[in-house]
Amino acid sequence: MLDTQNNPYIQFLFLLLLIGSTIWLFIQTSQSKKKEAPRKIITVIECSEDGKEKKRDFQEGDYIGKTLGGCGEHGVEVIKAIYTIEEKQQPASKPGITL
Ligand SMILES: [Zn+2]
Repeated sequence: MLDTQNNPYIQFLFLLLLIGSTIWLFIQTSQSKKKEAPRKIITVIECSEDGKEKKRDFQEGDYIGKTLGGCGEHGVEVIKAIYTIEEKQQPASKPGITL
C-alpha cells in the first residue's frame, strides 16, 4: 500500500504545483501591466496672433514653446501643450471657448 501522507513523490508533486502556480501568477500580473490601452500623443498648437488652437498628432521634435510656421495669414504658431490620450477613446467634445 502507498502511504500518501508521507509519499515523497506526492509531496514533490504538490511542491511543483505550488511553484508552477506562483510562476503563472507572476507572468499573468506582469502581462496585465504591459496590456495598457494604446496611447496617442497629441500636440496642441496655438496661433500667436489670433489664439486659435488646433490639434495634431505628435511629431518628432515637438516641444512646448516651439515656434512653427504661420497659421496662414498670421505670423507664428506656438506649441502650447502636449498630452496623451487613449487610442480607443473618441476625443470628447469639451465645452471649450471658441474664439
Ligand atoms: Zn492665426
